Amino acid sequence: MSRQRTSDLEVAIIGAGFGGLGTAIQLKQHGIEDFLVFEKTAGVGGTWWVNRYPGCACDVPSHLYSFSFAPNPDWTRRYAPRTEIQAYLESLVDRFRLEAHIRVRTGITQATWSEREQRWQLNDASGRKWRARVLVAALGGLSRPAWPDIPGLDDFAGEIVHSQQWNENLKLAGRRVAVIGTGASAVQLVPHVAREAKRLDIYQRTPNWILPRPDRAIGPRRRALYRRQPWLQKLARFGIWAISELRVPAFLWSNRLAAGHRWLAHRHRRRQVRDPELREQLKPDYDIGCKRVLLANDFYPVFDQRHVELVTDGIARIGPDAITDTGGQRRVVDTIILATGFKAVDPVPEGLIAGRGGCDLGKCWHSGPEAYKGTAVAGFPNLFMLLGPNTALGHNSVVMMIESQIRYLLAALDHMRAHGIETLEVRAEAQQRWNDMLARRMEGTVWTAGGCQSWYLHPETGRNSTLWPGFTLGFRQRLSRFDPEHYLATKSA
Ligand code: NAP
Repeated sequence: MSRQRTSDLEVAIIGAGFGGLGTAIQLKQHGIEDFLVFEKTAGVGGTWWVNRYPGCACDVPSHLYSFSFAPNPDWTRRYAPRTEIQAYLESLVDRFRLEAHIRVRTGITQATWSEREQRWQLNDASGRKWRARVLVAALGGLSRPAWPDIPGLDDFAGEIVHSQQWNENLKLAGRRVAVIGTGASAVQLVPHVAREAKRLDIYQRTPNWILPRPDRAIGPRRRALYRRQPWLQKLARFGIWAISELRVPAFLWSNRLAAGHRWLAHRHRRRQVRDPELREQLKPDYDIGCKRVLLANDFYPVFDQRHVELVTDGIARIGPDAITDTGGQRRVVDTIILATGFKAVDPVPEGLIAGRGGCDLGKCWHSGPEAYKGTAVAGFPNLFMLLGPNTALGHNSVVMMIESQIRYLLAALDHMRAHGIETLEVRAEAQQRWNDMLARRMEGTVWTAGGCQSWYLHPETGRNSTLWPGFTLGFRQRLSRFDPEHYLATKSA
């Protein structure tokens, strides 16, 4: 009986990170109870559950990197560590009574649109089947780790770990360690690794723009004040958001507007790196913002330690116990840490989501993902994505984008209910126009003309399919109402 009830759903959500949990909360608050959140890991949290490398934290202030409809007055730091963000997300389950709606350790292996039933059919890893009218894919834009294609990587006999698949039993003390990559994850984990390792080689392919991290503790008095006067916390949130939005013109229109940030970054490097040659090697030669700008206070000082070496020659090959660089130097190593990022331009695994005519989302996006408003995809009826194509940000909190998308989803569900609509599918022309608009707005931005290669861009087409080229407010306005004129609708019989 209960199996019968749970196998048919109004809404199925894949993923219990910020996107999935936010959707669950808002569905409930909207009076919709017939939904489940499927999560393949053993707990909620998404990226904050999965990424467990030492030093993992968020580089967006926590008062903004949290839901507007679920504020947390108790953040203990301006930039909360992973554990605190994870605890916040876990607390939402109790706070909004989501327990009965969440299935952890339940990875959806396939979601297929059934023409006959006009429903999504879902299979989970244990073989159970589910059916849902609406599918919400809250998979996260950065959930698939990218393993580098370096000759000999598979021959390495020591321990090898990707930053996103951290092994909590990994022993670093007394080891010779190599970290490959110097991006957002690397700058957070490297200081911790340097403290333990006997020797640390850091392989840098491209230097990054690094700004000081203005982190500080939020004391008990301030926290009590936020609890008593929630409007003050809202004001703080608004201030952080508004200041972050001010970065957009420098990214979109003229990088000259980022002169202040450039100066700050150069001063930070000059102050923290004493050796002039090293300082030069760590100096980026492209426009600030072209790659994600990093915040770190304890990364540069690592290079002052005698057991740490910055390697700027490329990696020629990896052998069973050593890495050889393109200059021919061989460095013996016991452990390799890959801080090499994610498959951002290939976010949906092949075989996971199949739309009309069995069209596989992972395959049909082979030249880079495309959607309408980052949320709907032509050929995939009743599918809504969170943090889909062109919704990532280089300047502000993606939680703002998720909230805009959830609002749009709720408006679509209201529209379906009000008009007896069985299926909604975005028109291909509307999707095309949206992507033409994105392409126009990308022209001349720091991401396409800033002189760097980044994970924002598709490696073959060069198209930016990851970032939203604008203000978060602009995105919010565009998603503020559901626009049925851009959808094909079928009515219930
Ligand atoms: P990433 O920024 O893409 O950095 C990957 C690093 O690996 C880069 O330095 C890259 O060099 C290097 N690399 C990749 N393949 C390589 C190869 N074959 N040989 C040598 N080097 C190679 O990845 P990430 O640091 O994991 O961060 C990804 C994103 O996750 C961030 O931009 C951010 O959006 C998010 N993140 C956020 C936080 C936060 O605090 N909110 C923390 C961590 C991550 P190139 O630069 O030359 O490509």
